[in-house]
Amino acid sequence: MKYPPQNKAPKDAKARKDAQPVICYPIDTLPRPDMGTYTKARENLILIDQVQIPPRDARCFKVPAGHFFRISCPDGPQVGDLNLWNANNISERFFSGKTRALHGTHVSTGDQLWSNLPYMRPMATITHDTLDWYGWDDFGGSVHDVIGTRCDPYTNNVLGGNDYHYCCHSNLTRALASTQKLDLPKTETFVHDVLNVFMCTGFTHDTHQYFMKASPVRQGDYIEFFAEIDLLGALSACPGGDCGSSHSSEDAACFPLNIEIYKSVGQSLVNWNSPAPSSYSGSHGMG
Ligand SMILES: [Zn+2]
Repeated sequence: MKYPPQNKAPKDAKARKDAQPVICYPIDTLPRPDMGTYTKARENLILIDQVQIPPRDARCFKVPAGHFFRISCPDGPQVGDLNLWNANNISERFFSGKTRALHGTHVSTGDQLWSNLPYMRPMATITHDTLDWYGWDDFGGSVHDVIGTRCDPYTNNVLGGNDYHYCCHSNLTRALASTQKLDLPKTETFVHDVLNVFMCTGFTHDTHQYFMKASPVRQGDYIEFFAEIDLLGALSACPGGDCGSSHSSEDAACFPLNIEIYKSVGQSLVNWNSPAPSSYSGSHGMG
């Protein structure tokens, strides 16, 4: 937050503030996915598995590398909080912050979900998004953000709320604990900042605070991903429902979400390979 300043502006304040912004991470040199191949591959998909996420709860799912998965809204408007891990090594996980630095605050078709250091590779590529028409609204809001972290009982507690056990953080923790047969304290260290699927968010124009508003998602909408590596995912149907009013409580109307996993049949992916982890040496200048 920026409170009223305690210091006088210097004489050259205007010149300093007029310095032109520079994009931190221009993506001209970023290896880009071959969307033509993915478009062709998704023309012949067969459904091989599906998982329903109950309201205010989460479930894990697995997607083999080279398969597609869709998160869809089968009923009322509902926001989902997504975690992704390398199915063979859950220390490699989705890196929301770097994905944001590379692709901006909200993602859509053609953007990739990157993994944490030292792996730093695309875990998934977004191949279709039925909400791509939304763009930006007059409040500066958009859908599918990589700004938020996930609702959690700790923040709720520090803000003066009661202990609430069905925040996305807890839902994801329970789902991962039962899938991986890990105890809760250990599991919690693997739960990470999310992709907020279908959530409509932004920063207020005046105070630049994180806001949410009713999601534009409707029955039948979906966002689709191509799994670049073997994925273990977990999705929570947020207790905030469409996140138009509140979260971290039982107040909002909540609905299920669906995960559908598809295999591409045909020859489109015969020359496709999983991306390798970062080729950085890892020496950090020592030795
Ligand atoms: Zn949530």
